[in-house]
Amino acid sequence: MSDLPPITRFAPSPNGPLHLGHAYSAIVAHDLAREAGGRFLLRIEDIDGPRSKPEFADEFRRDLEWLGLEWDEVPAQSTRLDHYAAAAEELLERGLAYLCCLTRKELSGLPPRRGADGLKYPASSRGQFAGEGMEGAALRLDIDRAMEEVGELLWIDDIAGEIKADPRPFGDVVLVRKDLPASYHLAVTLDDARDGVTLVTRGLDLFAASHIHRVLQALLDLPVPRWHHHRLLLDENGEKLAKRKGSPSLSDRRRMGEEGAVLAEQLRLQNFTLGT
Ligand code: GLU
Repeated sequence: MSDLPPITRFAPSPNGPLHLGHAYSAIVAHDLAREAGGRFLLRIEDIDGPRSKPEFADEFRRDLEWLGLEWDEVPAQSTRLDHYAAAAEELLERGLAYLCCLTRKELSGLPPRRGADGLKYPASSRGQFAGEGMEGAALRLDIDRAMEEVGELLWIDDIAGEIKADPRPFGDVVLVRKDLPASYHLAVTLDDARDGVTLVTRGLDLFAASHIHRVLQALLDLPVPRWHHHRLLLDENGEKLAKRKGSPSLSDRRRMGEEGAVLAEQLRLQNFTLGT
């Protein structure tokens, strides 16, 4: 583990406005970096097809500024598609990934993956990856082969401590989606490495994804960060705030004249009461 000041990031997807949970996540990442003299990065994760809208990303920047945060922005994911494609192709060539045309529904009707040899494409389908053949096929990680290659792996979460990477429950996760240039797992792992992130901060709802990311790091020979999965904001009934419908977004609050710095302090103190 490195003693250098941490580099953290907030990586929102511009497919809807930011809410309180996002604000909390951004503040945690920001403060962990700033308190230790590190850097806080903003990365726009805009590879969600037509759902990604630049207008939302512009609002995100205004929201963060309104909360009183300062950041360095790194390139958005849509500018890095070649990078994702190169890594995906490498995994395919090394026999660690395979093309799969089945839908999630079709897959769920099949017997357990180990017995479902029909899922795996012959090596001769590799050539399809670079061209249009990729259309209609998803690229999946062959988790058994991947685990054979990397062996036992550990990862460290600031709060949960040392954890053994156990991605098998997720099966052969998608690395490149049928309709999109990369899956969340592949893109975020490559980007965190490329951006020099040393402390990956995000909500506990994404804790399990880190098992997969740790394996991808090992396969692609990427540096290994530390993680900090923070708790999720709950409402007065103990429900996840993110699930609460109709609560105002950060930009709504901003436009209604609420003080961003005051909200940020309330979130830091965690004594936030849900108003309006
Ligand atoms: N773009 C992802 C999201 O908005 C980022 C998750 C992460 O921080 O890894 O959920």
